[in-house]
Amino acid sequence: MKRRSGYLKPGKQAALWSETRAEWIKEHPLGKHEYYICYICWIVDPEHASVFTETNVMLDHVKSRARHPELRTDLTNLRPICAHHNKEKGSLDLNEYLIKIGVVQI
Ligand SMILES: [Zn+2]
Repeated sequence: MKRRSGYLKPGKQAALWSETRAEWIKEHPLGKHEYYICYICWIVDPEHASVFTETNVMLDHVKSRARHPELRTDLTNLRPICAHHNKEKGSLDLNEYLIKIGVVQI
């Protein structure tokens, strides 16, 4: 199947995304006592970072889906993220978001 970014029907997009998420988890297997950690929490507040297992991990696009549709299914562009940071980051790229919340100064 040829993946044509941005031209998929909503149902197909959801199917493609759950396939991509499964691939990512397969590439990043958890050990016995490990968790996935929200990568934004890890930057801003590692002591209170949100952690996840394979069943509930959410993945964020480091470079946003909206601006880089070609990276939507690129596994290297995905990181675990918590609901709070996912919502706050929205469609920003990581560097823009870090500037917005004051972690990175320009
Ligand atoms: Zn977080």
